[in-house]
Amino acid sequence: MNTEASKKAFAEAQELIPGGVDSPVRAFSSVGGTPIFISEGEGGYLKDIDGNKYVDFVQSWGPLIFGHRDETIEAAVIDAVKHGLSFGAPTLAETELAKMVVDLFDSIDKVRFVSSGTEAVMSAIRLARGFTGRDDIVKFTGCYHGHSDALLVQAGSGAATFGNPSSPGVPADFTKHTLLAEYNNIESVKQCFADSNDIACVIIEPIAGNMGLVPADKEFLHELRELCDANGTLLIFDEVMSGFRATLHGAESITGVKPDIVTLGKVIGGGMPVGAFGARREIMAKLSPEGPVYQAGTLSGNPVAMAAGYAALTKLKANAKIIDVLNARAVRLVEGMKEAAAKEGIAMQVDTRGSMFGFFFNENPVKNFKDATQSDAELFAKFHAAMLDEGFYFACSLYETGFISTATTDAMIEDTIEASQRVFKAIKNG
Ligand SMILES: *Cc1c(COP(=O)(O)O)cnc(C)c1O
Repeated sequence: MNTEASKKAFAEAQELIPGGVDSPVRAFSSVGGTPIFISEGEGGYLKDIDGNKYVDFVQSWGPLIFGHRDETIEAAVIDAVKHGLSFGAPTLAETELAKMVVDLFDSIDKVRFVSSGTEAVMSAIRLARGFTGRDDIVKFTGCYHGHSDALLVQAGSGAATFGNPSSPGVPADFTKHTLLAEYNNIESVKQCFADSNDIACVIIEPIAGNMGLVPADKEFLHELRELCDANGTLLIFDEVMSGFRATLHGAESITGVKPDIVTLGKVIGGGMPVGAFGARREIMAKLSPEGPVYQAGTLSGNPVAMAAGYAALTKLKANAKIIDVLNARAVRLVEGMKEAAAKEGIAMQVDTRGSMFGFFFNENPVKNFKDATQSDAELFAKFHAAMLDEGFYFACSLYETGFISTATTDAMIEDTIEASQRVFKAIKNG
């Protein structure tokens, strides 16, 4: 496959943009090689500037559950654009999307829109601290909650890949209130509560997607809920990735554990920049201008972004079975690849939740970040490069989750499995 134009474009970008990218994981650093420069997307495919076509298992890192250029979302965006790009004043579109979110999530009575997942989580943490009057927070190693200072401690994916979990530029003073626990290990959370009686909130990805796909055990989440209740601590579900992907009604609907605050992003914007956080009335009442906890944004609730999100969620709600259909395809994909790997004596751990899928080259089950780091990174890099060359665009880090969309057909899945068979064979033969 010829990728000369991408190589040249990357060299030029590196002169002007640090690392040539606007978000680190895109740089392909952990798998080697140079990133592909995209010219356009179409359904389940990406096209690059050399004219190559790829089956896209990244889908903009989650947002595009209907694939590229979905007609309904595209039409909604174009219609909104014609009325003006931004007003900085309330619009009906915000209330419409808010109603949709409140209807879908049991635990949300009110919601505030922002422009990214990072902003949603940062604001939710401030709200939890303001509501409880406490300073400390608990997060789990390997969970990623965006790049705000207090949360940039032992975060997965980008941060994990780059091996500098806590970044220079973040004062130690800013992270001293962040306590770390191990995912799926309730004893480690109990230790945090033993160490501090000032814990405002515990934040967790109930279906972790930033250390690869590692869902939390149901029982662990129930015990977490009990611990929070016993200590007057709020429980935040960060569903920026899993929201509308794993299920339509949030992780609370499949685990039976109700969070106090939920953060959303990715799918909620249908491909446009949208984040959101919501909670019950009493908590949201603390938020400015109703309450004293300050939070704001010039482009928050942007009408074009709201239109895209509303179109996406409306379509999803009207076809709720989509999530099961996509899950069946995701299961076929990972089981097919696992079988192909096994034929060459390569062990794989696989899992899915809705349209999210994950795989590790690992002999043992992966329950937490430490387990994930025991996976074969070299094998992953070889797999990634060879699949890319075959025309299959997988996330360029073993700590990322894969995504399929409604435009990812059964035939594409079968092609992927066949290609993986060739790739595993070639890797095995050296
Ligand atoms: C992507 C992600 C974020 C950050 O969202 P951005 O829109 O990239 O700022 C936060 N939390 C989780 C769980 C995510 O997957």
